[in-house]
Amino acid sequence: MLESASKTFFHLLAQSAVLKKLASRYGMRKPTSFARRFIAGETVAEAIEAARMLEARGLLHSLDHLGESVGNLSEADAATRDYLAIVNAIVDAGVGRNLSLKLTQLGLDVDKASAIDNLRKILDRAEPAGFFVRIDMENSPYADVTLEIFETLWQQGYRQTGVVLQSALYRSEADLERMIALGARVRLVKGAYQEPKTVAYQRKEDVDAAYARMLKRMLSGSSYPAIATHDPAMIDLARTWAASHGIGSDRFEFQMLYGIRRDLQSRLVGDGYRVRVYVPFGREWFPYFMRRLGERPANIAFVVRGILGESG
Ligand SMILES: Cc1cc2nc3c(=O)[nH]c(=O)nc-3n(C[C@H](O)[C@H](O)[C@H](O)COP(=O)(O)OP(=O)(O)OC[C@H]3O[C@@H](n4cnc5c(N)ncnc54)[C@H](O)[C@@H]3O)c2cc1C
Repeated sequence: MLESASKTFFHLLAQSAVLKKLASRYGMRKPTSFARRFIAGETVAEAIEAARMLEARGLLHSLDHLGESVGNLSEADAATRDYLAIVNAIVDAGVGRNLSLKLTQLGLDVDKASAIDNLRKILDRAEPAGFFVRIDMENSPYADVTLEIFETLWQQGYRQTGVVLQSALYRSEADLERMIALGARVRLVKGAYQEPKTVAYQRKEDVDAAYARMLKRMLSGSSYPAIATHDPAMIDLARTWAASHGIGSDRFEFQMLYGIRRDLQSRLVGDGYRVRVYVPFGREWFPYFMRRLGERPANIAFVVRGILGESG
């Protein structure tokens, strides 16, 4: 209940232009600024630097150029060009080749066909260069169309791409069966968005129970699943389930967000597991940042300390 109220509150705050302006002013301006805890930087060079540091710690990564809900096709084209440039920059830098992106960033709200074309342009450059491209899952009104676009491209032969399913949504267990039948790679998350009870579990215990069921199903049946969570109970469950079913640690990976539970990330690597860190970067970091605050209101104290420290 508290989690859900907090998500709603931060979702509302995320709409505030004043807050966005204030945060943009203070959040990233110094290496110690508060938003840098969760965001790797505003430029691709900073993201690549973060990727190198993760690699030095034995971690994998997926770079996400922040941006969502663009309002016109020229913004969607610009986001597509940015991603093409990011592909080139990653290749030149010689770091791991893995990207995450959102369809509303490529114009899904404006024109579905253009969003598909934009995604295809990115995949046409990224796949031959050996990239894997994950399509993030946005809030529930986008679930159908996101999976439909993914399936269309999959049928057209784009196979170095995968989807995300949210255990919070009632529909996700059925979607998982569909993805398993395709042979598609799935990232399992709990879900970052505040959703109505018509489509999603409202109690954390129910979201967690669905996560546990889906996790087991994925480990046994799905192609190279990504268990994306910071929840030690889910991570322990994955470890014990995999061990007791003879599933090697090279058959799946854990995923976590940049700046969250770095201790756990390193511990898992030390124990021989693959861990991929989702590395968000770019100027449009405010909505992503607000979702992270909404998940854990304790983060606010850390932000307030940062602002007080910087504005003086
Ligand atoms: C790699 C990755 C990709 C993701 N992609 C998507 C996506 O495409 N679509 C989507 O809807 N969601 C996505 N998410 C977010 C996800 O849905 C959850 O909102 C988020 O991971 C928090 O849930 P949890 O599984 O960590 O469990 P929780 O039960 O929420 O948290 C477990 C523990 O993790 C730590 N923790 C969790 N969140 C925070 C935080 N913000 N700050 C500090 N500590 C925290 C705390 O110690 C907490 O007790 C992604 C998450 C990851 C890790």
